[in-house]
Order: sequence, then structure tokens, then C-alpha cells
Amino acid sequence: MEKQGHLPVLGIVVPCYNEEEVLPETVSQLTRMLERLVREKLIADGSFMLFVDDGSRDRTWELIEKYRSSNPRVSGLKLARNVGHQNALLAGLNRARNRVDCAVSIDADLQDDPEVIREFMIKYHEGFDIVYGIRQSRETDTAFKRSTAQTFYKLMRKMGADIEYNHADYRLMSKRALEQLERFKEVNLFLRGIVPMIGFNTTRVYFDRKERFAGESKYPLKKMLAFAWDGITSLSVTPIRLVTAAGFILFLISVVAALYSVIQKLAGNTVTGWTSLMLSLWFIGGIQLISLGLIGEYIGKIYKEVKRRPLYIVDKDLHAASESESESD
Ligand code: UDP
Ligand code: MG
Repeated sequence: MEKQGHLPVLGIVVPCYNEEEVLPETVSQLTRMLERLVREKLIADGSFMLFVDDGSRDRTWELIEKYRSSNPRVSGLKLARNVGHQNALLAGLNRARNRVDCAVSIDADLQDDPEVIREFMIKYHEGFDIVYGIRQSRETDTAFKRSTAQTFYKLMRKMGADIEYNHADYRLMSKRALEQLERFKEVNLFLRGIVPMIGFNTTRVYFDRKERFAGESKYPLKKMLAFAWDGITSLSVTPIRLVTAAGFILFLISVVAALYSVIQKLAGNTVTGWTSLMLSLWFIGGIQLISLGLIGEYIGKIYKEVKRRPLYIVDKDLHAASESESESD
């Protein structure tokens, strides 16, 4: 894609939320990777890392500032408050877009092997616009996390959302893919569902997911469930269709049941107990409530979209010394 003789500028975007424990190691591993890629002439010397501090309450931002003063490849973006992984990542990608030829998004905790970035770059040079990092094994995740994640991917697929199996947000995107991403103005942002909608030349790179280097997961079960729920309802209307289908089925059943009771009555069988009546009342009541809740969920999403609130607010912005300042294109 790039012009002959022009090496691509790579920006590595790293969302960080309370990551003071891993940050020193992450910075040194990513720096080493960048230096190596520069030496191998896979990327331009102006390549950099962009750490997005997602409203951390620990020393994450202080560390980013500290590294920035000694490491020319470090730049930082401080968000005004915690907006969650997806929005923090988007903030970083948007910030990097004008300064790079391609960007890689990676978690701060080194679960995604930084070595893979080299393979991403090789694929980029082969002409791919989007390269997905796919987790080959998740042995280091708990059995629980693995099975819930598995169910989530299956469910998403069934619901018609085109998401990559075992791909988290470890991926490379070319500048033109990033420009297209910017056009998806969704408030309920779920990058894993949106990126496949962009299209272009896409490929995969497989890797083994490692143990979190330090600190603990910022995705406890509650957040994971919320994430899955958000993902499903913002990408698919299947749930709402299922409700309609259930409504039809219930209607058919009740027609049959009504016929049956009329026949019973005509045959002279006296009124049967109210138990069944009560049960069905409860049943239908339950279904109705679920349906209403689900519809409410979609309406809530529309409500949020309509307001068009900003997804994140930038507090401070540190440029890497080597970042090109030519933003006026
Ligand atoms: N993260 C973030 N904002 C949040 C939660 C997480 O920026 O509100 C970052 C976090 O620092 C990490 C990445 O998102 O770099 C993935 O989080 P984590 O490793 O805790 O998730 P897991 O790997 O357990 O799914
Ligand atoms: Mg992690």
C-alpha cells in the first residue's frame, strides 16, 4: 500500500486502567519491539506508543508522564474519567489516526504477546488493511472465563453478528480502515462487531494468550456480562425477533388450549381447577415482562444514540517527540 521507499509509521495504542503494576514492563517490551521493527525496516523511525489513561486511580498517568520524558517513543492521552476499555481504545485510535500509516491496539497487561506485532507488520506489507490477532489457546484463562467467552462468541454468531472467533481487541488497522472506523458514530460502541463491517483486505494471525503480567483483570463477571449484553443488543435485532416469535407460538398454543377447553365443556366435563389458569396467567405475564424489558433495552439504546454525547473527554495530551505534527492533511 505504501509508496516505494516509504516505511509505514506504526502507532501502538494501549488503553490503561489502573495498570501501574504492568506499565514498566509493557513500556520496555513494546519499546524493544518497536526498535526491532525499525531496525528490520518494517516500520518508520517515527513509530510510537500511545498510552491512553482511562481515568486510572493509581499512578498510571504519572508513570506515563515519566516514561514520556525519557523515552521518545512514548506518548500519552489522559481521559477526564473512566469510560471503559472500548471507548478508551477508540480515543487512542482517533488520536493516532492522523499520525500513522497503521495502528495496533493491544491491552496493557501483556496477555497479548507483543511479538505478534511483527507478524501484523508483515501482513500489512503484504497489503492487508485489517489483521486480527486470534487467541489460539486460552489455557491461562480460567475454565470459567473460557467457557463464558465461548458461549458469548457462539451466541453472537447465532444472532447474526459477524465477529471473529477468539479475537479480542488485539489487531492492526491501516490508516484507511481507521478512517472508515471513524464514520461509525455509535454510542454503544463494540469494536469487535464494528471492525468486521468495514471490510477491506482482512487476515488473521494466531498466537497463544498469556497470563496477565501483573495486577488483576478489570473485567469481573459483572462487567463481562454487561459487555456481552451490550454487544448483543447493539449489533443484532435477533432478540427482538425471538420475542415476536415466542409471542406467535404462545398465541397458537392458547388457540389450541381454548379449543380444547370448549370441547371439554361441551362434553360435560365440569370446570377444571384454577391451577392451570393461574399458571398460564403467570407464564404469559412473565413473557410479557421479558419482552417489555427487551424492547426497553433497544429504546434505551436509541435514546443514547439520539443524544450524541461524546464518548470520551480528553484531559491531557502528551505527544511523543518523534510523532509527526503534520495534522493538517
Ligand atoms: N481497561 C480500560 N478501561 C477499563 C477497563 C479496562 O482501559 O475500564 C483496559 C485495561 O487496562 C487493559 C484492557 O483494557 O489494558 C483489558 O482489560 P483487562 O486485562 O482487565 O481485561 P481481561 O483481559 O481480563 O478481559
Ligand atoms: Mg487482560
